[in-house]
This record gives sequence, C-alpha cells and structure tokens, in this order.
Amino acid sequence: MKKDKDLRFGTRAVHGGQKPDPTTGAVMTPIYQTSTYAQSAPGVHKGYEYSRTANPTREALERSMASLEKGEYGISFSSGMAATSSIMKLLKAGDHLVCSDDVYGGTFRLFDKIYRNFDLGFSFVDTSDIKNIKQAITKKSRIIWIETPTNPTLKITDIAAAAEIARKNDIMLVVDNTFMSPYFQNPLDLGADMVLHSTTKYIAGHSDLVGGAVVLNDSELAEKLRFIQNAAGAVPGPMDCFLTLRGIKTLHLRMERHEYNAKKIFEYLKIQTAVKKMYYPGDPNHPGHETQKKQAGGFGAIISFDIGGLDDARKFMSALDTFTLAESLGGVESLIEHPAIMTHASVPPENRAKLGITDGFIRLSVGIEDAEDLIEDLQRGFDSIR
Ligand code: PLP
Repeated sequence: MKKDKDLRFGTRAVHGGQKPDPTTGAVMTPIYQTSTYAQSAPGVHKGYEYSRTANPTREALERSMASLEKGEYGISFSSGMAATSSIMKLLKAGDHLVCSDDVYGGTFRLFDKIYRNFDLGFSFVDTSDIKNIKQAITKKSRIIWIETPTNPTLKITDIAAAAEIARKNDIMLVVDNTFMSPYFQNPLDLGADMVLHSTTKYIAGHSDLVGGAVVLNDSELAEKLRFIQNAAGAVPGPMDCFLTLRGIKTLHLRMERHEYNAKKIFEYLKIQTAVKKMYYPGDPNHPGHETQKKQAGGFGAIISFDIGGLDDARKFMSALDTFTLAESLGGVESLIEHPAIMTHASVPPENRAKLGITDGFIRLSVGIEDAEDLIEDLQRGFDSIR
C-alpha cells in the first residue's frame, strides 16, 4: 500500500487521510455530531472525551489537509482568522512580526487593532522585494508572515528566499496559501514552517461554510498549536468538517477549471480600453510572473483590475448578472467585489492608496461556470460605462 505522500494530488484529494469508518465501514466519513463521549470508567474512553479536544470528523479533515499540503500535521480551526489568531498565540509580549503589506484586510485588522494591544510589534513591508524582509527583521522578530499572491493586488513573494532568511535568523515563516490552494502551491516543500488556509475559499469551494487550517511538519510546534486549539477553542463543528471534506474531493478538478476560465477572462480584459491596470500573476508583464512560475504550478483565478473611478466601478458591478457582488472568493460561482468598500475597508485609506487599491479597483474571483457566459457578463459591465 502506497503512503499518502507517494500518491498524486487527485488521489490524495479523494482519499487523503480518510479510511472507511471503523465501526460501520461507511465510505464517507460520518458527521460525528456530538459534544461528548461515554467513558466506561472515569478516564477510560476510546480516545475521545470532548469535541473541542478531538472529534473523528475533524480528525479526518485534519489528516486530509496534511496530505494535501504534504505536511505531517493538520490542525483545523473555525475560520481562517481563527487559524491566524491561534498562530499568534504562540508569541509572547514584546515579540515582533514582519508581514506582507498587502495581506487580507482582516489579517491586517487582527494584527494592528488587536495584537498590538498585547505588546506585539509589526512591520508591514512589501515582501515581494526580499531585501525589505531582511531590513525589517529585528532581534525580537519571531515570525515572517507572507501571503503570496497577496489579496487583492496579487503581489508575489519568493517563498524559498523568505524561508532562507527565516532559517538564518531562527524565525518561523508562515505562508497564507489561500489564493493558490495546495493544488497549485505547497509552501512547506519550499521551506515554510507553517502553511495557513482560509478553507472557506477554494478548499471547501462551495461558499457554504467558514473554516481555517494550519499544516506543519515540526512535532513540537504542532503540539503547541494543538494545545492552543483546545485551550482557546476556535474549533470547527463536525458538519462543517464533513462539508469541507466533501469539497476537497473535487479540489483538483475545480482548480483546473477556475484557472482555465481566469486565463480566458484575462485575455478578454487585456483588450478593454476601460481597464487602466491589471493584476494577474499569469500576466507575463506581472513583476512576480517568473517567481510564480518557479514556485507554483499555476496562476490561480483571482484577477484584479482598475477602471479609474468609483462611479464607473459602481455602474460596472451593478450591471453584472452572472458574477455575484459579494465578499469572499474561491467558490464555484464567480464573484466580484470592491475591496476599498468591502473586504479591505479596515485598511487605512492612506495604506490602500499606497498599495494601489483605488476607488476604481475591482477584484474578480473567477468561478467554474462557462467562460463565454462570464465574458458576456463582463461585457454588460463595460457597456454600462461607455
Ligand atoms: N487569508 C486570506 C488570504 C483571505 O482572503 C481570508 C478571507 O478572505 C482570510 C485569510 C480569512 O479567512 P476567513 O474569512 O475564513 O476567516
């Protein structure tokens, strides 16, 4: 029998970490919808005491996540932000973190508005230029936190180069891999210490739940994080774990189609005169294009572009039918959103301006519908601003 790690991605997506249920043989992992477990005598049980500590459905998801990211340990949380917050609880007052300046707005908000109150220091820098990371490191730095591609300007950071700096300085490298999914990118293979996912997005893939996960190889670190998972308690419920597992089974198929559609839409957007600027790592003119090709198996399906002003952006988004105007990304359906008003409203306006997140900036999460219908829909948007 081959080990999980020796299997190809699609096989791991379908089977990774999952076996028929030992009690009934059920092929699909059952939803163990229980908070507690009977003990035959005080302290004598079958490995399960209370569902914050352990739950068989959650364990199957954790093994599956570890298998997808080719790591030893997977730890699931109730949201991507809960996963982020749990990693932060590994730190102590006085510690310092170097972070990509264009991280998801909620990540910035958590660090800037909550963890600063606990005497943690942050340097937000453009990590797509590796020397900015080197310069930002202090004696107190404990974590380098990168998102690549970033949300929403899709900047690319060289993961292996960041990992080397982290190793030399005895710092942990955390990579938020939400945009790529493990199908396109495996940061642990490139030297990262921890990989984080908002499983809300591509992993679960159907916009029907909120979840998060961390995958890592270091047993001591995994034990600490598992302690935090239980002690702080930001755990996902069994039903959400089941739905995430079901979503994972088609991750490889969905990612292929997401990207196929995104490439078609990129080619279409490229020739629209109303588009002032485009952000897509698959664009040969994107500054991170070569790094992306080196470290990832694809370019994903998030495309951002700027059409100049707020009025046009509003008209454009309201004219669409097939794209839904909504926050989030990575689901089967195509979404469109306005980061300055929606996902990144918590980023101060001066920071947004520096990053290029203008009032005319629009982000697409390209779904798995028929590309021709998506392009016809975008055409409705461009017609509305003629
Ligand atoms: N990381 C990235 C890149 C995200 O886009 C998001 C959410 O949009 C998160 C983390 C937070 O995840 P969640 O919404 O599941 O808490």
